[in-house]
Amino acid sequence: MEKPQLATVWARIRGALQAEVGETEYRNWLKPMTLAGISGDEVLIALPTAFMRDWVRNHYGAKVNALWEAEWEEARRVNFLVGDATPAEPETIPERMAGVVRAEADDKGDPRSEIAATLDPRFTFDAFVVGKPNEVAHACAQRVAEQPACVGFNPLFLYGGVGLGKTHLMHAIAWDLTERGTASGKPVSVMYLSAEKFMYRFIAAIRGHQTIQFKETLRGVDVLMVDDLQFLIGKDNTQEEFFHTFNYLVEAGKQIVISADKSPSDLNGLDNRLRTRLGCGMVANLHATTFELRISILESKAARSGVPIPAKVLEYLAHKITSNVRELEGAFNRLVAHANLFGRVITLETTQEVLHDILRAHDRKVTIEEIQKRVSEHYNIRQTEMTSARRARAVARPRQVAMYLSKQLTTRSLPEIGRKFGNRDHTTVMHAVSRVNELMQADGDFAEGVELLRRMLES
Ligand code: ADP
Ligand code: MG
Repeated sequence: MEKPQLATVWARIRGALQAEVGETEYRNWLKPMTLAGISGDEVLIALPTAFMRDWVRNHYGAKVNALWEAEWEEARRVNFLVGDATPAEPETIPERMAGVVRAEADDKGDPRSEIAATLDPRFTFDAFVVGKPNEVAHACAQRVAEQPACVGFNPLFLYGGVGLGKTHLMHAIAWDLTERGTASGKPVSVMYLSAEKFMYRFIAAIRGHQTIQFKETLRGVDVLMVDDLQFLIGKDNTQEEFFHTFNYLVEAGKQIVISADKSPSDLNGLDNRLRTRLGCGMVANLHATTFELRISILESKAARSGVPIPAKVLEYLAHKITSNVRELEGAFNRLVAHANLFGRVITLETTQEVLHDILRAHDRKVTIEEIQKRVSEHYNIRQTEMTSARRARAVARPRQVAMYLSKQLTTRSLPEIGRKFGNRDHTTVMHAVSRVNELMQADGDFAEGVELLRRMLES
């Protein structure tokens, strides 16, 4: 079959849009679109003003994208830009030119291009595993997705340490709202961005004398989500701007969702008025994970991966990697990738081997100083003897034990250990390790003492 002409395709897409959104809507927003060109797999569509460009992208972007994908094989994504309103003959724009059109549009310094960040398709409610530590936050997020701007839930403020699911929940709300909006025929415009991006865009807007447009875009959304708000601490002007946007939207009955690493009252350095307002809606904490939640998350990931993983391995990982979900996920993904790549069956042994470095980093970290302190106490000598030059057995033996334990319980190298023991040579440490090993075999009491120390340090 002959490849359809670009112009024909474009006409068909416009027709489909017109039929879908109705005459008025089409005339107001979509008719002014012009096809600026095709650059590789990217379709470039121009609109006369930045405001219209953003509006079309927010409200019809997905639709236009889907239509292009259906109609034009090579099309992978659609990029909306601000450009000349004179309709160009699409076929006459060579690929290279298309790139130039876009570069020029960017060059004009439009500060609002790409304000919103893209949403991660994996971060949905379906993929979020609920447990005690996150059930409240999850319930609040779902509530907001079902009924945005409901009294008592605006703003929704999610807080907690890194890697506990704040961003995931925000994206899940955004996906859900978008889907519901599309299904009900009342599209909801959701803007999600990090506080950092908010600031950079704001600064760019000031430089480009575009603050009015910047405000306009932010205030034109139904739901505004700002991630990692703690970034704004100490950025007073941006805070001020955010405060005004915030008030405007809440008063206009729009939903706001915020995340931060601390609760509003603990965000020291944030403007007091803003802090007060942030705490006015619903504040939900994402707590550190529990063993049970980590197991559930791993089980859900294992089921999705399609790779058989013994329960023993999942338990082992949930025991070992307790810091946050991101790290747990990272370890899990590496394990599965390895199994897939090398066609290996996952066992406890392969897990320990494949995740060797990660697991080691999650071992409880004992410092050499801690070891020196405990060992000195145990043998009743002064801690300074650990680094002294004295060779009397009463101090030399405990020192050797401390070196041995440093080698066993820390990731320090022999030279590093030597340095911590009064700048001794690495061969001295090596000798200490083998000497303690020998003594432990020969002397039960001595061995017991060393084992006791080890257990104390490890717990
Ligand atoms: P935060 O924004 O709090 O730093 P993220 O939302 O980026 O954390 O989460 C880190 C990673 O952990 C993401 O890949 C996310 O999908 C995953 N994750 C966090 N919590 C859960 C959960 N309850 N269920 C499934 N995945 C989760
Ligand atoms: Mg995050």
